[in-house]
Amino acid sequence: MPGFELFSDLERNEVNDVLQSGVLMRYGFDGMRNGHWKAKELEKQLEQQLQVKHAQLVSSGTAAVSVALASAGVGAGDEVIMPTFTFVASFEAIMMLGAVPVLVDIDNTLTLCPNKVKEAITPKTKVIMPVHMCGSMANLEALQDICKAHNLILIEDSSQATGATYKGKPLGSIGDLGCLSLDFVKIITAGEGGAVLTNNEDYYRHADHYSDHGHDHVGNDRGAETHPFLGYNFRISELHAAVGLAQLKRLDEFVSIQKKNYTIIREALSEVSEITFRTVPEGGVESYSFLSFFLPDSEIATKVSQTFNANGVDACWNYYNNSWHYIREWQHLKNIKSLYPISEEVKNGLNYLQSKTFEQSDHYISRNISCLIKLSWTEAEVEQRALKMVEAIKSNL
Ligand SMILES: *Cc1c(COP(=O)(O)O)cnc(C)c1O
Repeated sequence: MPGFELFSDLERNEVNDVLQSGVLMRYGFDGMRNGHWKAKELEKQLEQQLQVKHAQLVSSGTAAVSVALASAGVGAGDEVIMPTFTFVASFEAIMMLGAVPVLVDIDNTLTLCPNKVKEAITPKTKVIMPVHMCGSMANLEALQDICKAHNLILIEDSSQATGATYKGKPLGSIGDLGCLSLDFVKIITAGEGGAVLTNNEDYYRHADHYSDHGHDHVGNDRGAETHPFLGYNFRISELHAAVGLAQLKRLDEFVSIQKKNYTIIREALSEVSEITFRTVPEGGVESYSFLSFFLPDSEIATKVSQTFNANGVDACWNYYNNSWHYIREWQHLKNIKSLYPISEEVKNGLNYLQSKTFEQSDHYISRNISCLIKLSWTEAEVEQRALKMVEAIKSNL
């Protein structure tokens, strides 16, 4: 990760197709487009590779989460359970619909803790939304059981784990809905873009219409389309879809490069007995986009992180004080800094964040270091990096 490291003629040729016809819009203009339907083609390819009946492309991963929630009928006052460790997009997408994000602890998988999820369920809960952070997954079987028992919807945010599988199925294809991001730093990039995945016909129809002003997309004449319900514009462009199409065809290649690089570093780190690795749920296979491990305490993790920085071991993070990915620094959510008025219902729904502490999440995040696995490293670079990492860790134990 990220896929842009290995741009090639494949991406350039797909983009050229679009520029030659001149149609950058994914719908309509049938006569002009010279047979090129990059967004439609990418959706078919996603359906095939990620083993779902339907994929709906949208303008971003954040949009994918909002569209998925809207498609499942989530709105004013509904509660959506999400993890404390994710990307700010998770709560943004929930807030946008007037729903309430309910933050729940993670466990040693670095994703939603099923026991803590159970404790957080209220009569207002509508969705459980695990986020498969840093290339690995939540215990989906446990979450599915909870959803069944409480009649809840399971939405997977698989933005950081495209290419990983759970019990033989691609992540994003297992919940009622799945979300992918194709932004610039993800394993498969379109520049900007996202996708909603589902096997549910109604959710798919909703996502298809909602992401394009509510248009029903019936027939070839845009002017004759009707609007069964309100929608907005979350469309992807043909240019973005063209890049995404070339990249998706290379997903298996990217995952195998990541696996190779990950394995070299993991084997080196395994010699340090004080290190433990994140837990991957039984039946899970990572996308190897990150290597995440725990140090004995937070002090050591901070020092190791500093030594990594000083010694040029880049792209490794301790997320404890990170303002993009962890609850501790999300003041703008805790204090609801909004440009426009927020409903009393949502304000009240978020009151718990003023006092709630997340000791279990702190316990894991403060001791964790997650290292991005790049696609462009040479084998010599990976080996060098592994040595430097072991040295930096040992010097701080
Ligand atoms: C990147 C990301 C998103 C948002 O995707 P964008 O395409 O950048 O909007 C959502 N969730 C997670 C976990 C992400 O990493």
